[in-house]
Amino acid sequence: MNNRNIFLHLESKVQSYARAFPCILKTAQGAQLWDVSGRRYLDFLAGAGSLNYGHNNPVLKRALIEHITQDGITHSLDLHTEAKQQFLEAMQDIIFKPRGLDYVVQFTGPTGANAVEAALKIARKVTGRTNVICFTNSFHGVTTGALAATGNSYYRRAAGVPLHGTTAMPFDGYFGDDVNTIDYLDRMLSDPSSGIDTPAAVIVETVQGEGGLNVASNDWLQQLQTLCRNKKILLIVDDIQAGCGRTGTFFSFEAAGLQPDIVTLSKSLSGYGLPFAVVLLQRSVDQWKPGEHNGTFRGNNHAFVTATAMLKHYWRTTDFADSVQMKGEQLGARLQQLVDRFPLHLTEVRGRGMMQGVCCADPKRAAAVTERAFKHGLIIERSGPLDEVIKCMMPLTISNVEWEEGLDILETACSEEFGTELPEFTNYQTSIDLWRVPKSSNRPNSATR
Ligand SMILES: *Cc1c(COP(=O)(O)O)cnc(C)c1O
Repeated sequence: MNNRNIFLHLESKVQSYARAFPCILKTAQGAQLWDVSGRRYLDFLAGAGSLNYGHNNPVLKRALIEHITQDGITHSLDLHTEAKQQFLEAMQDIIFKPRGLDYVVQFTGPTGANAVEAALKIARKVTGRTNVICFTNSFHGVTTGALAATGNSYYRRAAGVPLHGTTAMPFDGYFGDDVNTIDYLDRMLSDPSSGIDTPAAVIVETVQGEGGLNVASNDWLQQLQTLCRNKKILLIVDDIQAGCGRTGTFFSFEAAGLQPDIVTLSKSLSGYGLPFAVVLLQRSVDQWKPGEHNGTFRGNNHAFVTATAMLKHYWRTTDFADSVQMKGEQLGARLQQLVDRFPLHLTEVRGRGMMQGVCCADPKRAAAVTERAFKHGLIIERSGPLDEVIKCMMPLTISNVEWEEGLDILETACSEEFGTELPEFTNYQTSIDLWRVPKSSNRPNSATR
């Protein structure tokens, strides 16, 4: 049953996640997956952040089944449908109005990369400029426009053509805590002889998901927005991975109080793992001519239905956001205890909210840890320039039992890989006690560094 020959014979070598997790999956519920032989896995990958509400979330599933049973529209290009109407109403009432945001919604092709392409295109069209500032370790997708704004050389090389129209600048903390990289960016953009063409836009992730869970501080983000406003440069927040609740608020930039000109959303926007992407545009930025950016699959009504159910069920009150924030604090505390237990091998906790992880001193050992975790039934991935950061992206709806079990497996994998010998200064019993009783982190919030 678990014979993987057809995949090896017939599926392209481009597969990536499948190489790390050799199994044939069949069913899933919440944070759990089962393969064809009935083996159970915990999912701390969650579709790279596309399954924030878990697999087959019962609330969303019910809405979707009802829609299908009633012969509701499946595909509609950009035609008006009832499902789309209800999604737009929910976005307006549940997300935009309470946050004082005035965006129009552009439905793009259903991938994150297509939303990023649309965002870059409209920013260039509106400003009449070409250059876009992106940041070190950024990831915005693998189509050529988005790839030009992506840092990783492995992905960039695969483009096969020169990638241009962008300039990479140092992200927050790139030169350590003592250097404010906004000062550097400001100087480069203010000096008419710096060699940097005045950009149409700056595109930024508040937490770099693929780039190693690097966090931009609220202060840094605010300074970036002010700089953009002063210089009439559009600010694009790519919230494809960090948005939709992952950091404890619907948008990841709420803590910093930003009002970006353009926002991209995808991954968990449908709530159900269905392909769906949008670009949010300040009204003044919405200067598209009809059909200038299009795409056949802009009307995934199944995604509209599950997204609407997700918004109504999880975002009408602050209860869910509060629970995610609490889980995020507990996650940070538990990961810190892991770092304290293996200080020679784990250098620090990275990330914010429910996208946090631990950075390994040796990237090879990071790979070994996630491989060992898989053998114990935990699916967990890595990110960062050298894949050195072990990244916890469990569904936000994960139960306490599954949460404990998954983090225990991660700890077991670490102790198998790193051994149990401890540096003399560590009080072993204390660290175990701390580990068993997750409590709020006392460490300064990395987001307000
Ligand atoms: C995943 C991701 C993308 C690309 O989305 P795709 O659906 O894979 O094209 C873009 N930006 C960020 C921040 C992402 O995490």
